[in-house]
Amino acid sequence: MKTVPPGAPAHYMRAMSTNPPDLRPDLAPKPQLTDRPRAGQPTIGMVSLGCPKALVDSERILTRLRAEGYGVSPDYAGADAVIVNTCGFLDSAKAESLDAIGEALQENGKVIVTGCLGAEPDYIREHHPRILAVTGPHQYEQVLDAVHAAVPPDPDPFIDLLPATGVQLTPRHYSYLKISEGCNHKCKFCIIPDMRGRLVSRPGHAVLREAEKLVDAGVRELLVISQDTSAYGLDRKYDSNPWKDREIRSHITDLARELGQLGAWVRLHYVYPYPHVRELIPLMADPESGVLPYLDIPFQHAHPDVLKRMARPAAAARTLDEIAAWRAICPEITLRSTFIVGYPGETEAEFQTLLDWLDEAQLDRVGCFQYENVEGARSNALPDHVPAEVKQERWERFMEKAQAISAAKLEAKVGTTCQVIVDEVDAEAATCRTMADAPEIDGNLFIDEGFETLSPGDIVTVEVEEASEYDLWGRII
Ligand code: SF4
Repeated sequence: MKTVPPGAPAHYMRAMSTNPPDLRPDLAPKPQLTDRPRAGQPTIGMVSLGCPKALVDSERILTRLRAEGYGVSPDYAGADAVIVNTCGFLDSAKAESLDAIGEALQENGKVIVTGCLGAEPDYIREHHPRILAVTGPHQYEQVLDAVHAAVPPDPDPFIDLLPATGVQLTPRHYSYLKISEGCNHKCKFCIIPDMRGRLVSRPGHAVLREAEKLVDAGVRELLVISQDTSAYGLDRKYDSNPWKDREIRSHITDLARELGQLGAWVRLHYVYPYPHVRELIPLMADPESGVLPYLDIPFQHAHPDVLKRMARPAAAARTLDEIAAWRAICPEITLRSTFIVGYPGETEAEFQTLLDWLDEAQLDRVGCFQYENVEGARSNALPDHVPAEVKQERWERFMEKAQAISAAKLEAKVGTTCQVIVDEVDAEAATCRTMADAPEIDGNLFIDEGFETLSPGDIVTVEVEEASEYDLWGRII
């Protein structure tokens, strides 16, 4: 994994190199594939770059290939061909994607490129003329065609049964669940709408069916993702579809309520502070609902003029009032957000407003990027770009404040009890997360005594004994 570029929007999940190491959110989880292909089985390797949404795409492709009888190789040497699922969101991500393609060509030789950067086939071929095929994002069928052409399938119906969850790259006890693709907004620093198109939501019953299958196969936590989760269903005019014995609207409130009934933790990412988000909060306040009291909500800034220059959705929302309203309904809610400092034209006074806002908002988890130009973004043309040293200085001041808030919040948890989900167990400790911690992006709770019988996916109750700026330690009770 290479450096992650600063300046990306919240849902650009790998964009957090500027955070302290403990808060590094989102390096896509390493492949967890352990089952080796059988002798003679046509076998594909997958390099998955970019955000969790791209990871979901990779999983989908592998699921299909696996169903068709392909094996999945964890290394270049064992693969008959390699798919590189690229990211093209920032210039630095493009460079990383080109590097990954080059490495796959060198190590394996047969390379099929897909994903966001696949939208620019000429650019890729200019650098890597030897690749077998290029397809754009979500062109699953074309990826499969390219694989079939490069490595013909050889299915064995007695062996190649599709596992219930498909092939997941994430650990099996949690899974990303993509509910829509694309975005109807036009934030000036973001080129995702150009690359991924306008919002297209999956029908509610299709999402629920996938989620149910995942839970049946042992997933204990569903991470709902999209570019704009609160806009879910808008493009479908919130249509209703039958699910079990009832009709379900394609609306985030209905979807969250139903997902919560499946018996896994449900965590919502990339929610914008639209007024109807308030309808979700009572679900979060109800411990029986399954919907975690956790909102990942990319505010990006607090000064109205900066938000206007960013052309952010909900720029006019009175976010502090909204936060107060959420906390009134659900006092234990965890709020995570990301911010951009040094956006073009940001004055010291505007930045100070952001710091003051943070003091008041007392968010639990924050990430912060320094603004960076992205090829094709409209913000590049804005006047008064902020010098690099000023961006750095503002980023440091922001993170210092955020860290102090986080430390105080975690210290206040010492002596309390909470449920945690176990992510990993090694000889030293069990690494777990509370309901306030999303995998990869938030902190951990460590249990270093009496943890030997725990397994990943277990949910246990602990007493919090110790806190640092970002992590907790506890004992099972
Ligand atoms: S809301 Fe849409 S345009 Fe704005 S940052 Fe997110 S994906 Fe990009």
